[in-house]
Amino acid sequence: MNPFVTSPKRTPRETFDVAVVGAGIIGATIAVSLARTGLDVIVIDANGTPGFGSTSSSAGIVRVHAFDVESSAMAAESIAAWTDWREFTSTPADEAVAEFVRCGTFVFDDGTESLERLADTMTRARVDYDEVDGNGLARALPWADTRRFGPPAAIEDSAFWREPTERIERALHTPTSGYVSDPALAAQNLAALARRLGVRFELGRRVTGFAEQSGVTRIELHDGGHLDAAAVVNAAGPHSRTINALAGVGGDFTVGLSAHRQELHLVHLPETVSMSRDGAHIVDGDLGINFRPDGDDAVLVGGNGSPVDGVEVLDDVDSLDPSPSREAWYRHSVRTARRIPGSRISVAPSGIAGLYDVTDDWLPIYDRTDRDGFYVAVGTSGNQFKTAPVVGDLMTAIVRAGLDGHDTDATPLTHTLPLSGATISSSAFSRRRTPLLGGSRG
Ligand SMILES: Cc1cc2nc3c(=O)[nH]c(=O)nc-3n(C[C@H](O)[C@H](O)[C@H](O)COP(=O)(O)OP(=O)(O)OC[C@H]3O[C@@H](n4cnc5c(N)ncnc54)[C@H](O)[C@@H]3O)c2cc1C
Repeated sequence: MNPFVTSPKRTPRETFDVAVVGAGIIGATIAVSLARTGLDVIVIDANGTPGFGSTSSSAGIVRVHAFDVESSAMAAESIAAWTDWREFTSTPADEAVAEFVRCGTFVFDDGTESLERLADTMTRARVDYDEVDGNGLARALPWADTRRFGPPAAIEDSAFWREPTERIERALHTPTSGYVSDPALAAQNLAALARRLGVRFELGRRVTGFAEQSGVTRIELHDGGHLDAAAVVNAAGPHSRTINALAGVGGDFTVGLSAHRQELHLVHLPETVSMSRDGAHIVDGDLGINFRPDGDDAVLVGGNGSPVDGVEVLDDVDSLDPSPSREAWYRHSVRTARRIPGSRISVAPSGIAGLYDVTDDWLPIYDRTDRDGFYVAVGTSGNQFKTAPVVGDLMTAIVRAGLDGHDTDATPLTHTLPLSGATISSSAFSRRRTPLLGGSRG
Protein backbone atom coordinates (compact mmCIF):
# COMPACT_ATOMS: atom_id res chain seq x y z
CA MET A 1 0.00 0.00 0.00
CA ASN A 2 1.24 3.47 -0.84
CA PRO A 3 1.67 5.14 2.58
CA PHE A 4 1.21 8.57 1.04
CA VAL A 5 -2.24 8.07 -0.44
CA THR A 6 -4.68 10.17 1.55
CA SER A 7 -8.21 9.03 1.14
CA PRO A 8 -10.98 10.00 1.22
CA LYS A 9 -10.35 13.60 0.13
CA ARG A 10 -11.13 16.01 2.88
CA THR A 11 -10.57 19.58 3.84
CA PRO A 12 -9.01 19.79 7.29
CA ARG A 13 -10.44 22.65 9.31
CA GLU A 14 -7.32 23.60 11.26
CA THR A 15 -4.77 26.21 10.34
CA PHE A 16 -1.22 25.04 9.71
CA ASP A 17 1.90 26.98 10.57
CA VAL A 18 3.39 26.30 7.14
CA ALA A 19 2.06 24.82 3.90
CA VAL A 20 4.66 23.60 1.42
CA VAL A 21 3.52 23.42 -2.20
CA GLY A 22 5.41 20.54 -3.82
CA ALA A 23 6.57 17.16 -2.53
CA GLY A 24 9.74 16.89 -4.61
CA ILE A 25 13.17 16.59 -3.01
CA ILE A 26 13.10 20.31 -2.11
CA GLY A 27 9.59 20.39 -0.61
CA ALA A 28 10.30 17.19 1.32
CA THR A 29 13.56 18.43 2.85
CA ILE A 30 11.92 21.73 3.83
CA ALA A 31 9.01 19.88 5.46
CA VAL A 32 11.41 17.74 7.53
CA SER A 33 13.41 20.73 8.76
CA LEU A 34 10.35 22.85 9.55
CA ALA A 35 8.74 19.98 11.47
CA ARG A 36 11.94 19.46 13.46
CA THR A 37 11.60 23.00 14.80
CA GLY A 38 8.14 22.14 16.14
CA LEU A 39 6.03 23.75 13.41
CA ASP A 40 2.78 22.21 12.21
CA VAL A 41 3.41 21.53 8.52
CA ILE A 42 1.35 20.35 5.56
CA VAL A 43 2.71 19.40 2.12
CA ILE A 44 0.42 19.60 -0.91
CA ASP A 45 1.24 17.96 -4.24
CA ALA A 46 -0.75 17.47 -7.41
CA ASN A 47 0.89 14.07 -7.92
CA GLY A 48 -0.20 10.99 -6.01
CA THR A 49 3.32 10.15 -4.75
CA PRO A 50 6.22 12.34 -3.53
CA GLY A 51 9.22 12.76 -5.81
CA PHE A 52 7.35 12.31 -9.07
CA GLY A 53 7.95 15.82 -10.42
CA SER A 54 11.26 16.89 -11.96
CA THR A 55 13.10 15.08 -9.14
CA SER A 56 12.20 11.76 -10.77
CA SER A 57 14.03 12.66 -14.00
CA SER A 58 17.16 13.92 -12.22
CA ALA A 59 20.55 12.36 -12.91
CA GLY A 60 21.09 12.60 -9.15
CA ILE A 61 24.67 13.83 -9.51
CA VAL A 62 26.15 15.26 -6.34
CA ARG A 63 29.06 17.39 -7.52
CA VAL A 64 30.99 19.74 -5.31
CA HIS A 65 32.41 22.06 -7.97
CA ALA A 66 30.48 25.23 -8.70
CA PHE A 67 31.04 28.77 -9.91
CA ASP A 68 29.92 30.23 -6.56
CA VAL A 69 31.35 29.53 -3.12
CA GLU A 70 27.99 28.95 -1.42
CA SER A 71 26.87 26.18 -3.80
CA SER A 72 30.21 24.44 -3.55
CA ALA A 73 30.15 24.56 0.27
CA MET A 74 26.52 23.40 0.44
CA ALA A 75 27.14 20.48 -1.91
CA ALA A 76 30.23 19.41 0.04
CA GLU A 77 28.26 19.63 3.29
CA SER A 78 25.53 17.44 1.78
CA ILE A 79 27.88 14.55 0.97
CA ALA A 80 27.75 13.18 4.52
CA ALA A 81 23.95 12.96 4.39
CA TRP A 82 23.97 11.30 0.96
CA THR A 83 26.64 8.84 2.09
CA ASP A 84 24.46 7.58 4.93
CA TRP A 85 21.01 8.37 3.60
CA ARG A 86 19.37 5.67 5.71
CA GLU A 87 20.71 7.31 8.85
CA PHE A 88 19.94 10.85 7.63
CA THR A 89 16.33 9.93 6.80
CA SER A 90 15.95 7.48 9.73
CA THR A 91 14.64 4.94 7.22
CA PRO A 92 13.85 1.60 8.93
CA ALA A 93 16.13 -1.30 7.97
CA ASP A 94 13.36 -3.16 6.12
CA GLU A 95 12.50 -0.23 3.81
CA ALA A 96 14.22 0.64 0.54
CA VAL A 97 16.55 3.61 0.69
CA ALA A 98 18.29 5.63 -2.03
CA GLU A 99 21.92 4.72 -2.55
CA PHE A 100 24.80 7.16 -3.08
CA VAL A 101 27.63 5.93 -5.30
CA ARG A 102 30.87 7.80 -4.69
CA CYS A 103 32.72 7.77 -8.00
CA GLY A 104 34.43 11.18 -8.04
CA THR A 105 34.17 13.83 -10.76
CA PHE A 106 36.68 14.86 -13.41
CA VAL A 107 36.09 18.28 -14.96
CA PHE A 108 38.00 18.43 -18.24
CA ASP A 109 39.76 21.54 -19.41
CA ASP A 110 37.60 22.96 -22.21
CA GLY A 111 40.00 25.62 -23.38
CA THR A 112 38.25 28.40 -21.42
CA GLU A 113 39.00 29.78 -17.97
CA SER A 114 36.39 27.61 -16.28
CA LEU A 115 38.93 25.39 -14.47
CA GLU A 116 40.60 28.44 -12.93
CA ARG A 117 37.23 29.76 -11.77
CA LEU A 118 36.14 26.41 -10.35
CA ALA A 119 39.48 25.90 -8.58
CA ASP A 120 39.19 29.37 -7.10
CA THR A 121 35.65 28.84 -5.76
CA MET A 122 36.49 25.41 -4.34
CA THR A 123 39.58 26.82 -2.65
CA ARG A 124 37.49 29.57 -1.08
CA ALA A 125 34.79 27.07 -0.09
CA ARG A 126 37.48 24.79 1.42
CA VAL A 127 36.39 21.91 -0.78
CA ASP A 128 38.96 19.21 -1.62
CA TYR A 129 40.06 18.81 -5.22
CA ASP A 130 43.18 17.72 -7.12
CA GLU A 131 44.64 18.96 -10.35
CA VAL A 132 45.34 16.16 -12.80
CA ASP A 133 47.65 16.38 -15.83
CA GLY A 134 47.30 14.55 -19.14
CA ASN A 135 49.19 11.44 -17.99
CA GLY A 136 47.22 11.30 -14.75
CA LEU A 137 43.96 11.59 -16.65
CA ALA A 138 44.87 8.76 -19.02
CA ARG A 139 45.81 6.57 -16.03
CA ALA A 140 42.65 7.39 -14.06
CA LEU A 141 40.31 6.83 -17.01
CA PRO A 142 41.77 3.86 -18.90
CA TRP A 143 38.59 3.52 -20.98
CA ALA A 144 38.67 7.10 -22.25
CA ASP A 145 40.17 8.59 -25.37
CA THR A 146 41.47 11.76 -23.74
CA ARG A 147 42.34 13.55 -26.96
CA ARG A 148 41.03 17.09 -27.41
CA PHE A 149 38.05 16.96 -29.77
CA GLY A 150 36.62 20.38 -28.98
CA PRO A 151 35.44 22.99 -29.04
CA PRO A 152 32.02 21.30 -29.12
CA ALA A 153 30.59 21.03 -32.61
CA ALA A 154 27.38 19.66 -34.09
CA ILE A 155 27.91 16.06 -35.19
CA GLU A 156 26.84 17.10 -38.71
CA ASP A 157 29.77 19.55 -38.77
CA SER A 158 32.99 18.24 -40.35
CA ALA A 159 34.91 19.90 -37.47
CA PHE A 160 33.43 17.28 -35.16
CA TRP A 161 35.11 14.48 -37.13
CA ARG A 162 38.54 16.05 -37.48
CA GLU A 163 41.28 13.82 -36.03
CA PRO A 164 42.61 15.52 -32.90
CA THR A 165 46.28 16.40 -32.68
CA GLU A 166 46.38 17.20 -28.97
CA ARG A 167 45.11 15.66 -25.81
CA ILE A 168 43.47 17.13 -22.73
CA GLU A 169 46.34 18.12 -20.48
CA ARG A 170 44.44 19.30 -17.44
CA ALA A 171 41.41 18.38 -15.34
CA LEU A 172 40.08 18.99 -11.85
CA HIS A 173 39.24 15.93 -9.80
CA THR A 174 36.88 15.98 -6.81
CA PRO A 175 37.10 12.58 -5.11
CA THR A 176 34.03 12.92 -2.88
CA SER A 177 31.45 13.52 -5.63
CA GLY A 178 29.08 10.84 -6.86
CA TYR A 179 25.47 10.20 -7.72
CA VAL A 180 22.22 8.96 -6.22
CA SER A 181 20.84 6.22 -8.43
CA ASP A 182 17.16 6.73 -7.53
CA PRO A 183 16.34 10.41 -6.87
CA ALA A 184 12.58 9.81 -6.56
CA LEU A 185 13.22 7.24 -3.83
CA ALA A 186 15.45 9.77 -2.06
CA ALA A 187 12.53 12.23 -1.99
CA GLN A 188 10.20 9.48 -0.76
CA ASN A 189 12.62 8.60 2.05
CA LEU A 190 12.57 12.24 3.16
CA ALA A 191 8.79 12.44 2.82
CA ALA A 192 8.41 9.31 4.94
CA LEU A 193 10.60 10.93 7.61
CA ALA A 194 8.47 14.07 7.41
CA ARG A 195 5.37 11.93 7.99
CA ARG A 196 6.95 10.33 11.03
CA LEU A 197 7.67 13.84 12.32
CA GLY A 198 3.97 14.65 12.05
CA VAL A 199 3.85 16.41 8.67
CA ARG A 200 0.56 15.90 6.86
CA PHE A 201 0.59 15.17 3.12
CA GLU A 202 -2.27 16.11 0.83
CA LEU A 203 -1.46 14.30 -2.40
CA GLY A 204 -3.34 14.31 -5.68
CA ARG A 205 -4.48 17.87 -4.88
CA ARG A 206 -3.48 20.78 -7.08
CA VAL A 207 -3.15 24.32 -5.74
CA THR A 208 -5.25 26.71 -7.83
CA GLY A 209 -5.18 29.96 -5.87
CA PHE A 210 -4.37 31.90 -2.73
CA ALA A 211 -6.56 34.29 -0.75
CA GLU A 212 -6.18 36.27 2.47
CA GLN A 213 -8.38 34.97 5.26
CA SER A 214 -8.27 36.58 8.71
CA GLY A 215 -4.51 37.11 8.69
CA VAL A 216 -3.61 33.71 7.23
CA THR A 217 -3.31 32.47 3.65
CA ARG A 218 -6.15 30.38 2.31
CA ILE A 219 -4.82 27.86 -0.22
CA GLU A 220 -7.45 26.91 -2.77
CA LEU A 221 -7.40 23.44 -4.29
CA HIS A 222 -8.61 22.11 -7.65
CA ASP A 223 -11.31 19.96 -6.03
CA GLY A 224 -12.95 22.94 -4.34
CA GLY A 225 -11.29 22.30 -0.98
CA HIS A 226 -9.01 24.68 0.84
CA LEU A 227 -6.40 24.80 3.59
CA ASP A 228 -5.23 27.69 5.76
CA ALA A 229 -1.63 28.40 6.75
CA ALA A 230 0.32 31.22 8.37
CA ALA A 231 3.11 30.75 5.84
CA VAL A 232 3.36 29.17 2.39
CA VAL A 233 6.52 27.88 0.67
CA ASN A 234 6.52 27.56 -3.11
CA ALA A 235 8.58 24.42 -3.87
CA ALA A 236 6.70 23.59 -7.05
CA GLY A 237 9.76 22.92 -9.25
CA PRO A 238 9.16 23.84 -12.90
CA HIS A 239 5.65 25.01 -11.95
CA SER A 240 7.17 27.67 -9.69
CA ARG A 241 6.18 30.55 -11.98
CA THR A 242 2.56 29.38 -12.02
CA ILE A 243 2.44 29.29 -8.22
CA ASN A 244 4.15 32.69 -7.99
CA ALA A 245 1.61 34.14 -10.43
CA LEU A 246 -1.28 32.69 -8.41
CA ALA A 247 0.17 34.36 -5.30
CA GLY A 248 0.81 37.64 -7.12
CA VAL A 249 4.56 37.56 -6.41
CA GLY A 250 7.49 37.89 -8.79
CA GLY A 251 7.18 41.57 -9.68
CA ASP A 252 10.26 42.52 -7.64
CA PHE A 253 12.43 39.57 -8.74
CA THR A 254 15.64 40.70 -10.44
CA VAL A 255 16.38 37.16 -11.63
CA GLY A 256 14.04 35.62 -14.17
CA LEU A 257 12.69 32.06 -14.19
CA SER A 258 12.14 29.82 -17.21
CA ALA A 259 11.59 26.11 -17.83
CA HIS A 260 14.18 24.30 -19.95
CA ARG A 261 13.63 20.83 -21.37
CA GLN A 262 16.61 18.58 -20.71
CA GLU A 263 17.23 15.03 -21.93
CA LEU A 264 19.31 12.22 -20.44
CA HIS A 265 20.32 9.16 -22.45
CA LEU A 266 21.63 5.74 -21.59
CA VAL A 267 24.69 4.63 -23.56
CA HIS A 268 26.01 1.07 -23.18
CA LEU A 269 29.75 0.51 -23.00
CA PRO A 270 32.05 -2.16 -24.39
CA GLU A 271 32.40 -5.29 -22.26
CA THR A 272 36.01 -4.45 -21.43
CA VAL A 273 34.91 -1.38 -19.46
CA SER A 274 33.84 -1.69 -15.84
CA MET A 275 32.26 1.46 -14.48
CA SER A 276 32.09 0.07 -10.95
CA ARG A 277 35.87 -0.37 -11.05
CA ASP A 278 37.05 2.62 -13.11
CA GLY A 279 33.96 4.82 -13.47
CA ALA A 280 33.66 8.51 -12.68
CA HIS A 281 31.33 11.41 -13.32
CA ILE A 282 32.78 13.33 -16.25
CA VAL A 283 32.13 16.98 -17.04
CA ASP A 284 33.31 17.02 -20.63
CA GLY A 285 33.16 20.60 -21.83
CA ASP A 286 35.47 19.57 -24.66
CA LEU A 287 32.72 17.49 -26.30
CA GLY A 288 29.71 19.27 -24.76
CA ILE A 289 28.46 16.38 -22.62
CA ASN A 290 28.31 15.23 -18.99
CA PHE A 291 28.02 11.63 -18.00
CA ARG A 292 28.02 9.45 -14.93
CA PRO A 293 28.09 5.67 -14.51
CA ASP A 294 24.79 3.85 -14.62
CA GLY A 295 25.47 0.37 -13.29
CA ASP A 296 28.66 -1.36 -14.41
CA ASP A 297 28.27 -1.22 -18.18
CA ALA A 298 26.50 2.02 -19.09
CA VAL A 299 26.64 5.78 -18.65
CA LEU A 300 23.83 8.31 -18.31
CA VAL A 301 24.62 11.21 -20.64
CA GLY A 302 23.28 14.75 -20.80
CA GLY A 303 24.26 17.92 -22.62
CA ASN A 304 26.08 20.68 -20.78
CA GLY A 305 24.51 23.67 -22.43
CA SER A 306 26.99 24.11 -25.23
CA PRO A 307 25.82 26.94 -27.56
CA VAL A 308 25.88 24.61 -30.60
CA ASP A 309 23.11 22.52 -29.03
CA GLY A 310 20.63 25.32 -28.36
CA VAL A 311 18.11 25.46 -25.53
CA GLU A 312 14.51 24.26 -25.53
CA VAL A 313 12.48 26.67 -23.40
CA LEU A 314 8.90 25.63 -22.59
CA ASP A 315 6.32 28.33 -21.89
CA ASP A 316 3.69 25.74 -21.04
CA VAL A 317 5.35 23.35 -18.58
CA ASP A 318 2.44 20.93 -18.84
CA SER A 319 3.25 20.37 -22.52
CA LEU A 320 6.48 18.48 -21.68
CA ASP A 321 7.02 15.38 -23.82
CA PRO A 322 9.00 13.05 -21.51
CA SER A 323 10.27 10.78 -24.30
CA PRO A 324 13.78 11.31 -25.63
CA SER A 325 14.13 12.82 -29.10
CA ARG A 326 16.06 10.90 -31.77
CA GLU A 327 18.19 13.95 -32.47
CA ALA A 328 19.46 14.55 -28.91
CA TRP A 329 19.86 10.83 -28.23
CA TYR A 330 21.95 10.33 -31.37
CA ARG A 331 24.06 13.43 -30.69
CA HIS A 332 24.84 12.33 -27.13
CA SER A 333 25.51 8.74 -28.17
CA VAL A 334 27.95 9.75 -30.92
CA ARG A 335 29.78 12.21 -28.69
CA THR A 336 30.07 9.56 -25.98
CA ALA A 337 31.43 7.11 -28.55
CA ARG A 338 34.23 9.55 -29.35
CA ARG A 339 35.21 9.75 -25.68
CA ILE A 340 34.61 6.07 -24.89
CA PRO A 341 35.64 4.06 -27.95
CA GLY A 342 33.47 1.01 -28.51
CA SER A 343 30.35 2.53 -26.92
CA ARG A 344 27.26 0.96 -28.42
CA ILE A 345 24.62 3.06 -30.10
CA SER A 346 21.31 1.37 -29.32
CA VAL A 347 18.71 0.69 -32.00
CA ALA A 348 16.19 3.10 -30.50
CA PRO A 349 16.44 6.17 -28.27
CA SER A 350 16.75 5.26 -24.63
CA GLY A 351 16.42 7.89 -21.92
CA ILE A 352 14.10 10.51 -20.46
CA ALA A 353 13.33 14.20 -20.67
CA GLY A 354 12.57 16.46 -17.74
CA LEU A 355 12.37 20.15 -16.93
CA TYR A 356 14.88 22.44 -15.30
CA ASP A 357 13.40 25.43 -13.42
CA VAL A 358 16.15 27.83 -14.48
CA THR A 359 17.16 31.28 -13.21
CA ASP A 360 19.17 33.79 -15.23
CA ASP A 361 22.37 32.91 -13.36
CA TRP A 362 21.67 29.21 -12.71
CA LEU A 363 21.55 29.77 -8.95
CA PRO A 364 18.41 28.96 -6.96
CA ILE A 365 16.15 31.47 -5.22
CA TYR A 366 15.69 30.67 -1.51
CA ASP A 367 13.93 33.69 -0.11
CA ARG A 368 10.88 35.48 1.24
CA THR A 369 8.76 37.52 -1.18
CA ASP A 370 6.97 40.86 -1.05
CA ARG A 371 3.78 39.04 -0.05
CA ASP A 372 3.70 38.54 3.71
CA GLY A 373 4.07 34.89 4.67
CA PHE A 374 4.92 33.71 1.14
CA TYR A 375 8.35 32.12 0.57
CA VAL A 376 10.08 30.61 -2.46
CA ALA A 377 12.45 27.67 -2.91
CA VAL A 378 12.53 27.85 -6.69
CA GLY A 379 14.81 28.23 -9.69
CA THR A 380 16.73 25.09 -8.81
CA SER A 381 18.31 25.30 -12.27
CA GLY A 382 19.05 21.64 -12.86
CA ASN A 383 21.49 21.46 -9.96
CA GLN A 384 19.79 21.52 -6.57
CA PHE A 385 19.07 17.85 -6.03
CA LYS A 386 22.58 17.59 -4.66
CA THR A 387 22.18 20.28 -1.99
CA ALA A 388 18.73 19.15 -0.81
CA PRO A 389 20.07 17.85 2.55
CA VAL A 390 21.05 21.39 3.58
CA VAL A 391 18.37 23.40 1.78
CA GLY A 392 15.73 22.33 4.32
CA ASP A 393 17.54 24.01 7.20
CA LEU A 394 18.37 27.13 5.17
CA MET A 395 14.72 27.61 4.14
CA THR A 396 13.55 26.87 7.67
CA ALA A 397 15.81 29.62 8.99
CA ILE A 398 14.32 32.03 6.42
CA VAL A 399 10.70 31.04 7.18
CA ARG A 400 11.21 31.12 10.95
CA ALA A 401 12.81 34.54 10.68
CA GLY A 402 9.75 35.77 8.79
CA LEU A 403 7.33 34.25 11.30
CA ASP A 404 9.31 35.98 14.07
CA GLY A 405 8.97 39.35 12.30
CA HIS A 406 12.58 39.56 11.08
CA ASP A 407 12.96 41.26 7.68
CA THR A 408 15.55 39.24 5.76
CA ASP A 409 15.47 41.78 2.92
CA ALA A 410 16.77 44.48 5.27
CA THR A 411 19.09 42.19 7.23
CA PRO A 412 19.97 38.94 5.44
CA LEU A 413 20.45 35.85 7.55
CA THR A 414 23.75 34.13 8.10
CA HIS A 415 23.25 30.40 8.10
CA THR A 416 26.03 28.17 9.45
CA LEU A 417 26.50 24.71 7.96
CA PRO A 418 26.92 22.44 10.99
CA LEU A 419 29.66 20.08 9.75
CA SER A 420 32.04 22.43 7.95
CA GLY A 421 31.19 25.59 9.87
CA ALA A 422 30.92 27.43 6.53
CA THR A 423 28.54 30.37 6.59
CA ILE A 424 25.94 31.09 3.92
CA SER A 425 24.34 34.51 3.62
CA SER A 426 20.71 34.30 2.52
CA SER A 427 21.50 37.22 0.20
CA ALA A 428 23.41 34.79 -2.07
CA PHE A 429 20.08 33.26 -3.10
CA SER A 430 17.94 36.38 -2.88
CA ARG A 431 15.20 37.01 -5.44
CA ARG A 432 16.54 40.56 -5.69
CA ARG A 433 20.24 39.75 -6.14
CA THR A 434 22.41 41.02 -8.92
CA PRO A 435 22.65 37.89 -11.10
CA LEU A 436 26.05 36.18 -10.78
CA LEU A 437 28.26 37.32 -13.66
CA GLY A 438 29.21 34.39 -15.84
CA GLY A 439 26.96 32.08 -13.83
CA SER A 440 26.23 28.88 -15.67
CA ARG A 441 25.17 25.35 -15.01
CA GLY A 442 28.68 24.41 -13.79
C1 LIG B 1 16.87 15.88 -16.55
C2 LIG B 1 17.31 16.46 -15.24
C3 LIG B 1 18.55 16.12 -14.71
C4 LIG B 1 18.96 16.66 -13.49
N1 LIG B 1 20.15 16.26 -12.97
C5 LIG B 1 20.56 16.76 -11.77
C6 LIG B 1 21.77 16.32 -11.18
O1 LIG B 1 22.45 15.46 -11.72
N2 LIG B 1 22.13 16.84 -9.97
C7 LIG B 1 21.38 17.80 -9.35
O2 LIG B 1 21.79 18.26 -8.28
N3 LIG B 1 20.22 18.23 -9.88
C8 LIG B 1 19.79 17.73 -11.06
N4 LIG B 1 18.62 18.13 -11.61
C9 LIG B 1 17.85 19.15 -10.90
C10 LIG B 1 17.09 18.58 -9.74
O3 LIG B 1 16.52 17.35 -10.10
C11 LIG B 1 16.04 19.60 -9.32
O4 LIG B 1 16.71 20.80 -8.97
C12 LIG B 1 15.23 19.12 -8.13
O5 LIG B 1 14.81 17.79 -8.29
C13 LIG B 1 14.02 20.02 -7.98
O6 LIG B 1 13.23 19.51 -6.94
P1 LIG B 1 11.90 20.24 -6.55
O7 LIG B 1 11.38 19.53 -5.37
O8 LIG B 1 12.12 21.70 -6.45
O9 LIG B 1 10.93 20.07 -7.82
P2 LIG B 1 10.02 18.85 -8.29
O10 LIG B 1 10.64 17.55 -8.06
O11 LIG B 1 9.61 19.18 -9.68
O12 LIG B 1 8.77 18.93 -7.32
C14 LIG B 1 7.80 19.94 -7.44
C15 LIG B 1 6.47 19.33 -7.08
O13 LIG B 1 5.50 20.37 -7.09
C16 LIG B 1 4.28 19.81 -7.49
N5 LIG B 1 3.41 20.87 -7.99
C17 LIG B 1 3.63 21.70 -9.04
N6 LIG B 1 2.57 22.52 -9.19
C18 LIG B 1 1.68 22.21 -8.22
C19 LIG B 1 0.39 22.70 -7.87
N7 LIG B 1 -0.22 23.69 -8.54
N8 LIG B 1 -0.25 22.14 -6.82
C20 LIG B 1 0.33 21.12 -6.11
N9 LIG B 1 1.55 20.61 -6.42
C21 LIG B 1 2.21 21.15 -7.46
C22 LIG B 1 4.68 18.83 -8.59
O14 LIG B 1 3.67 17.85 -8.76
C23 LIG B 1 6.00 18.29 -8.09
O15 LIG B 1 5.85 17.04 -7.44
C24 LIG B 1 18.14 17.59 -12.81
C25 LIG B 1 16.89 17.92 -13.32
C26 LIG B 1 16.47 17.35 -14.52
C27 LIG B 1 15.11 17.70 -15.05
